[in-house]
Amino acid sequence: MRACKSCRYITYQNDKVCPKCQQGELTDRFSGMVLILDAERSEVAKYVQLNAPGSYALKLKN
Ligand SMILES: [Zn+2]
Repeated sequence: MRACKSCRYITYQNDKVCPKCQQGELTDRFSGMVLILDAERSEVAKYVQLNAPGSYALKLKN
């Protein structure tokens, strides 16, 4: 499980780049995750500024 350094999208695939934004580098160094099911109605999605369903890392480590 790895997170995109650009958009924080979490992928379970062994991709080289982020399947969502197609450009972010993936890292396994992240902490916390949030699952967005309904981005339109989710207060959590607004809070973390996400606009698409999926799993996202809360914090990336260096
Ligand atoms: Zn991305």
